[in-house]
Amino acid sequence: MEGSLTARDRVGIQDFVLLDAYTSETAFMDNLRKRFNENLIYTYIGTLLVSVNPYKELGIYTKKQMDIYMGVNFFELPPHIFALADNVYRTMISETSNHFILISGESGAGKTEASKKVLQFYAVCCPSTRLLDNVRDRLLLSNPVLEAFGNAKTLKNDNSSRFGKYMDIQFDHQGAAVGGHVLSYLLEKSRVVHQNHGERNFHIFYQLVEGGEDELLRWLGLERNCQNYRFLIQGECAKVSSINDKSDWKTVQKALIIIEFSEKDIEDLFAILASVLHLGNVHFGASALGYATLNSSAEVHWLSKVLSTDTSIKNPCLCSIYHFQVLSPFTAEHAKYARDALAKAIYGRTFSWLVNKINESLANKDSTRKTVIGLLDIYGFEVFDMNSFEQFCINFCNEKLQQLFIQLTLKSEQEEYEMEGIEWEPVPYFNNKIICDLVEEKHRGIISILDEECLRPGEATDFTFLEKLEEKMCGHPHFVTHKLADQKTRKTLERGEFRLLHYAGEVTYSVAGNCSLLFKVMRQSKNSIIQHCFHAIEPDGKKRPETVATQFKSSLAGLTEILMTKEPWYVRCLKPNHCKQPDRFDDVMVRHQVKYLGLMEHLRVRRAGFAYRRRYEVFLKRYKALCPDTWPHWKGTPAEGVQRLIKHLGYKPDEYKMGRTKIFIRHPRTLFAIEDAFEIC
Ligand code: ATP
Ligand code: MG
Repeated sequence: MEGSLTARDRVGIQDFVLLDAYTSETAFMDNLRKRFNENLIYTYIGTLLVSVNPYKELGIYTKKQMDIYMGVNFFELPPHIFALADNVYRTMISETSNHFILISGESGAGKTEASKKVLQFYAVCCPSTRLLDNVRDRLLLSNPVLEAFGNAKTLKNDNSSRFGKYMDIQFDHQGAAVGGHVLSYLLEKSRVVHQNHGERNFHIFYQLVEGGEDELLRWLGLERNCQNYRFLIQGECAKVSSINDKSDWKTVQKALIIIEFSEKDIEDLFAILASVLHLGNVHFGASALGYATLNSSAEVHWLSKVLSTDTSIKNPCLCSIYHFQVLSPFTAEHAKYARDALAKAIYGRTFSWLVNKINESLANKDSTRKTVIGLLDIYGFEVFDMNSFEQFCINFCNEKLQQLFIQLTLKSEQEEYEMEGIEWEPVPYFNNKIICDLVEEKHRGIISILDEECLRPGEATDFTFLEKLEEKMCGHPHFVTHKLADQKTRKTLERGEFRLLHYAGEVTYSVAGNCSLLFKVMRQSKNSIIQHCFHAIEPDGKKRPETVATQFKSSLAGLTEILMTKEPWYVRCLKPNHCKQPDRFDDVMVRHQVKYLGLMEHLRVRRAGFAYRRRYEVFLKRYKALCPDTWPHWKGTPAEGVQRLIKHLGYKPDEYKMGRTKIFIRHPRTLFAIEDAFEIC
């Protein structure tokens, strides 16, 4: 279909590796745009899948489509997320190996949608039994629950993931999905108490207020009007046309039941949500001595009412509420801060509890060895007008994942050719390790300096923190403060800001007003709630001050470790325009993403390289039946066996290269030919 010249002119080429003669960015962009205009949102770079968000339903995710892609060689059909999912699945089964699919791209580029499509594909296409149907439903339904509690409308995306998610799907040796496990990363808790203009709190709050049954709302002391709750209206957009909170509420209800939340769990969960809303409406006045006074008897009444169901007390965040009044010796400013910290802590812990519950429900009790496919859908790179600590963490996470991509593809690929003694013209690429180090290096990185400032007994403030940064980072090519702003970038900086030149672009972070209060409260508070919010508790019970940034850094290191033991696959999502509109392809914007995602470098490495490589033993073991000399036993070395085998198969010299330990095959079609022959035989 895409083979004839005219069709090709119209719809472009389905694998960038096959793009004629040159690999210029313009040719790349032309191809991408052509395809997008024809509603062909997927294109390959070898086995990497590039996806452009169509912002409209394309009708390409039906059961029929799944059937078409199931069990068919990767490059034989037009590119599709199902083809990738199928290829990963079949590789996992044939090699009994573990894999992960890293889905990346900026906010609104389509990562979460892509990860859901992969999960749906496995749910439909894997062999199943009645018992396993159960697992399948739970795997699928964990999504609406996690999205309700962890996603929110932002300026960039009406359903933006405000947490990072890594999900393992476990398969038994017959390829049936038998369990799963979710890891969540840094939920953006600040959203519970504050939303920028045009943004919302987490979906679940609006679902509860809009969709909750009358009786439930009465029991929780809530009114059916989002406008009555301070925590829901700071962005002034409680209603969003693309979101139906009422029907989403129903979906979440059903999902909670299938995932086997007990009635009591569900009751407790809603009570906690209601408590956060009531907490948000608590106001403080000031006494003659300057201490905070509580002015909100109705809210406090409801707070204790909804949370005083005796058994719930075991939940630590509910206990915190009981100590609420301990906060009163604070000034009004402190009291407000503590109220918000408490609301964030309650929500954060509830979210962790929710993830644990889901994991209990997805856990596979059978101890036989399983293989896994991990799906990584983590918040995209973000730049807002005002960027705070959360954006700093999110963007750092993206730097780390880009670093992983570089290590696993560009760097390791080229090193492998070198190691194997394959002649090779190195392809230059930008290595963002320098930016990762700037953030996370021990004793010298930004996170270390933040930790130091938090621990300093003296008067650390935003400005002392910035001064320290300036002193230590001075001259770093990716760090700018207001003193240096004009020299490195055109845009000036205010005092209280610093700018990082990320791999994906410049971001100005504001520390003003944020850290001072944080430092103060951390130092002054003897209150157990506040300490709980800011201090990690060691297993031995001792409290060790560890900032959220440090915790996040460690959890990312953990994630990298998990991923390094698996075989990687990539989906790179691109956002075609800023207005969330279909059929609009903004060239400048897409070109920027193509650049920072390193797609051109990846393409150059792929084009110059070999699509497929296998150790001689593995290759021989799989295909030896295709040659009478190597079947059933080959007596010589595996390399000689492979040489004999491919001579028999009639490979031309430019189709392959023999390395020290592996055979490298240039085009996938060469491989398909033997795979097909293998199946026939
Ligand atoms: P974030 O980092 O903010 O979580 P994201 O990359 O996960 O962003 P998604 O939520 O997956 O972005 O996509 C944003 C919106 O774009 C979706 O809600 C949907 O409307 C649309 N969209 C994304 N992918 C597709 C697709 N393949 N087909 C149709 N619409 C899509
Ligand atoms: Mg998302």
